[in-house]
Amino acid sequence: MADLKYTLHTHTIRFDGQNTPAEMVAHAKDLGFNTIGFSNHFIVNPAIRNSKLYYYSELGGYHNIYSGSFKEAVYKFKIHYAEIEKIRKLYPEMNILRGMEVDFFDNDKWKEGFQEAIRLLKPDYTIGSAHFIEHDGVLLNTHDWQSADPELQKELLKQYWSNVEKAAGSGLFTWMAHLDLPKKAGLGFGDEWMVLENKAVRAAAKSNTAIEINTGFYRNYCYEPYPSNRVLKMIKRSKVPVLLSDDAHSMEAIGRHFDEAQNLIEFFKLKTFDVNSLIK
Ligand SMILES: [Zn+2]
Ligand SMILES: [Zn+2]
Repeated sequence: MADLKYTLHTHTIRFDGQNTPAEMVAHAKDLGFNTIGFSNHFIVNPAIRNSKLYYYSELGGYHNIYSGSFKEAVYKFKIHYAEIEKIRKLYPEMNILRGMEVDFFDNDKWKEGFQEAIRLLKPDYTIGSAHFIEHDGVLLNTHDWQSADPELQKELLKQYWSNVEKAAGSGLFTWMAHLDLPKKAGLGFGDEWMVLENKAVRAAAKSNTAIEINTGFYRNYCYEPYPSNRVLKMIKRSKVPVLLSDDAHSMEAIGRHFDEAQNLIEFFKLKTFDVNSLIK
């Protein structure tokens, strides 16, 4: 199929999104999209319920995105994917894909569990991410780093980039999400981070993993997507393919700032990921 108009990084109700998959598909179709994929959070860690953010997620009612075991996460995704399957039948003209946004944890037990989960769920694609850093036996979310002292912030950033490099190089993911996520917490802008950023980009190149241009950051104090122009230049040099992502947590966010992000792809002459390859 030529001319795919796609949105593949989206979140829905029962996870931390605001709309049902059916509402998202109907709205995407109205906007002229012919391809939509769902990538709800797949965050599995036995210590996740001890994290600060878990407490807040319970207050906010979106704690379902966290699972203490793979068994739990697979159970949730089986129900979710079955719902998507039903919607597929209602919209034969749309490509409707089953994805997941996965938090990568660098240990063998996690990798084994994840690979087994993939065998069971058979997603159409997986997005790698690192929203959490393990520090002193506690999982710290990007949000928590803001209040840390500068020395600890530096250490967390180092760990973040090392995690992203490992995730990007693992070959477990179709593409990597919001590569320079720490800027959400106002961190990692300095040029001293370029070495680690470049390592992560090169790891993606080596394992044939794409990188998304995530337009969810445009609304913030600095008007750009994830990743920054600085990282986009590295992506260009390493010839890593890119794709657009709106990280939509509601139907109104579908396709936000795609024109501007598309301009960046053209400006830097970036190689683009073949979304067609995901469609069976
Ligand atoms: Zn994310
Ligand atoms: Zn997301």
